[in-house]
Amino acid sequence: MRIGGILALLMAYILLIATFGQFCESKAVKKTSTLYKFYRFMLLPITLPFKPCGIDVPAKIQKQMWAMNNGRTYFVTVFYYILYFGSLFFVYATLVAPITIIFPRVNEEQARLEWIQYPTKQAAINFVPSFMVLITMLCHVSSLISFTTATLRDPNGEKNKDDFDEILYSALTCEDCKTERPARCSHCEQCNKCVNKRDHHCIWINQCVGRRNLFWFNVFLNSTAWACFFAGVINIATIIKIFTSSPSDEMNMFMLYQKKVFKLKIVLQWAITSMPLQFASGLMHLLISLMLIPFGTVHIMQALQNQTTLEKTKKYYLKEGLKRLEWSFFKVEGVDKKEFNKLMKEKKAYLVQKYQAKLEKVQYEEQIYQVLDLKKALKEIDRYNWYSKGALSNLIEVIKDGFTK
Ligand SMILES: [Zn+2]
Ligand SMILES: [Zn+2]
Repeated sequence: MRIGGILALLMAYILLIATFGQFCESKAVKKTSTLYKFYRFMLLPITLPFKPCGIDVPAKIQKQMWAMNNGRTYFVTVFYYILYFGSLFFVYATLVAPITIIFPRVNEEQARLEWIQYPTKQAAINFVPSFMVLITMLCHVSSLISFTTATLRDPNGEKNKDDFDEILYSALTCEDCKTERPARCSHCEQCNKCVNKRDHHCIWINQCVGRRNLFWFNVFLNSTAWACFFAGVINIATIIKIFTSSPSDEMNMFMLYQKKVFKLKIVLQWAITSMPLQFASGLMHLLISLMLIPFGTVHIMQALQNQTTLEKTKKYYLKEGLKRLEWSFFKVEGVDKKEFNKLMKEKKAYLVQKYQAKLEKVQYEEQIYQVLDLKKALKEIDRYNWYSKGALSNLIEVIKDGFTK
């Protein structure tokens, strides 16, 4: 059995719930039938841990299952699970198996000997520090928990905490919802509702990333990225270790290559055939992490700046407008935020104003305006961030929003 058996059972359970749930939540099954009751009973291990967090998993899953029936989102979620469990399989086969064998630990010399005697017995090797394996496993667990939470948590907060800045956000009534739209709130066509502090609609979590699930989205993205990175590095490190050590220090694969006994092609063939799992796993995990780490880092930066992807996109359009001279840009000197907001409401000042003219020639009567040239104006828009309260406060806000009921 060991860990592999437990993981396989867990995998089978979740896949069964995911596919069986699709069927049970559809119209084909009556909510009073024994089959449906049995499905709800099977859900209990998932339901109970989330009860204290105030999340009603069956109701949420029911909603998600309906949404997932739109085909594309269902495909994406299933794809995530395949990717996740594929990764776990690789990690198990190449990293966890060695640990389970190695209590009590074999020393490196013994491991090398075992590798030469039984090249296919992957379990006999572990040259990797346990803490790296532990970090990888922790990132995996964190990925699954945060994925589930980001998917099931309602992104909307109860109260709107932000002021209208009249540049990126002004008081509006949503055309679709027919309700007043708070600042930083935006309508999502896929979710068919207005979402508070909307970042973007994420196809992986099958709903919008907004105020209350931004933290979990960030944890999901970054722990997945780093789980892949560590798994890849551990696999490649194992290959290099074998490459430079066996069968003896005087005559290992690396030395034979250096002495031109083998060509690089042969060495690569040797690596692929003698360590296929490590090779495939290393390649897959490093490629995925190369895509995810930059994406995850950008999202952490945005959280520290209290800036959403949508706000960045809006700024991009403002800048494009400026470049085409559809807008001109003014900076207001020596006015604090509150006073500036008041000026905005009285329509006395506009940071960005529609104006069909060349920027340099704009003249204004009131002295508080400063007309900037295009280069400075573009920089000013880049810097513009009404909602930032400093990196630490911004971070605390994101974490708090991730836990409020
Ligand atoms: Zn709306
Ligand atoms: Zn959405």
